Amino acid sequence: MSTNNYMEQAEKNLLHTYNRYQIVWDKGESVYLFDTNGKKYLDFAAGIAVNSLGYSNEEYKTALKEQIDKLMHVSNLYYNAPLAEAGEKLIKASGLDKVFFTNSGTEAIEGAIKAARKYAYDKDGKTDHEIIAMNHSFHGRSMGALSVTGNPHYQEAFKPLIGGIKFADFNDLESVKALINEKTCAIILEPIQGEGGIYPAEPAFLEGLRAICDEKDILLIFDEIQCGMGRTGSMFAWQGYGVKPDIMTSAKALGCGVPVGAFAMTEKAASLVPGDHGTTYGGNPLVCAAVSKVFDIFEKENLVEHAKEIGGYLTEKLDTLVDKYDCIETRRGKGLMQGLVLKQPANPVVLKALEQGLIVITAGTNVLRMVPPLVIEKEHVDEMIEKLEASLS
Ligand SMILES: *Cc1c(COP(=O)(O)O)cnc(C)c1O
Repeated sequence: MSTNNYMEQAEKNLLHTYNRYQIVWDKGESVYLFDTNGKKYLDFAAGIAVNSLGYSNEEYKTALKEQIDKLMHVSNLYYNAPLAEAGEKLIKASGLDKVFFTNSGTEAIEGAIKAARKYAYDKDGKTDHEIIAMNHSFHGRSMGALSVTGNPHYQEAFKPLIGGIKFADFNDLESVKALINEKTCAIILEPIQGEGGIYPAEPAFLEGLRAICDEKDILLIFDEIQCGMGRTGSMFAWQGYGVKPDIMTSAKALGCGVPVGAFAMTEKAASLVPGDHGTTYGGNPLVCAAVSKVFDIFEKENLVEHAKEIGGYLTEKLDTLVDKYDCIETRRGKGLMQGLVLKQPANPVVLKALEQGLIVITAGTNVLRMVPPLVIEKEHVDEMIEKLEASLS
């Protein structure tokens, strides 16, 4: 079937919730993707910060194939070996105490919200607790996660959302303090805002939030779904800030391509008990074999250190573009999570880049987002810059 036929077939049958680029992907190799016409593209989007290992990690693929042959699903009524191993590795990497595996990022956020509310309920028996979230945040599309997503455009048609959510301004500690009262049970934020436009938190902001949360016994929830898993030069972005959350969410690169998420927490915040929460698929042998192998490969290949090194190089190169091009206002980001802020909409540049064989994405209207596989090398950064310059001119 031709490329056009696939697109027509998809548009005929799939709910139209995306305005998709006119490309049908066929296969991946190293850090490149190939479309059904055989055209090769350098991938600086990684399936939205998911495919951190690129497309040719044989060890990862073999682990999944072997697990498929052995056992894919059993339910959470029983134990399974990959689940036990993946849990141990995530706990070790995060320094937190307990983890629950989900099927997606948005479900990880749902779990984090439930854990926070239950923690507060256990303390005072009340059911009117509040959560403070940030403007321009993104936490997912299910009703709870949407309720803490500070983007009125995403929320409007789906009201009423869950109650007791208030919004403060990112990097504005006073705006958070102004919302805190005796009902506040949690503060939720991304250490580096992704969809909202690649805004890194200022260290003093996170430190200030930690201090308030400690003082008032409020749980601090960090959404590491996009900025976590090595992308910013530490396994989790909060580790680079030295500010530990009570609850952390992960997904996207956690499984490097299989649908898996997680929320992890300290012993103190481990409020959920049998009957409080559950999932059919979450933590099944297939996805956990992936998670477990991902942690092994990260360690063996020193990927976090690598991301830090290449991220430094990428930062340097992008900063030269900021100096060189009038249409670029500034650069924001950390490591391999970068945004070029343009003085115009970014999507026309994305389209030009695709013509040049480069995959980049947007974050908000004016930000060109780069979240490449962590395994990219300096030569790939050079190739990206060359293609991006051809797209900008
Ligand atoms: C992608 C994302 C989510 C939602 O994850 P899904 O797997 O799409 O549900 C939540 N938070 C952040 C920061 C994200 O980037």
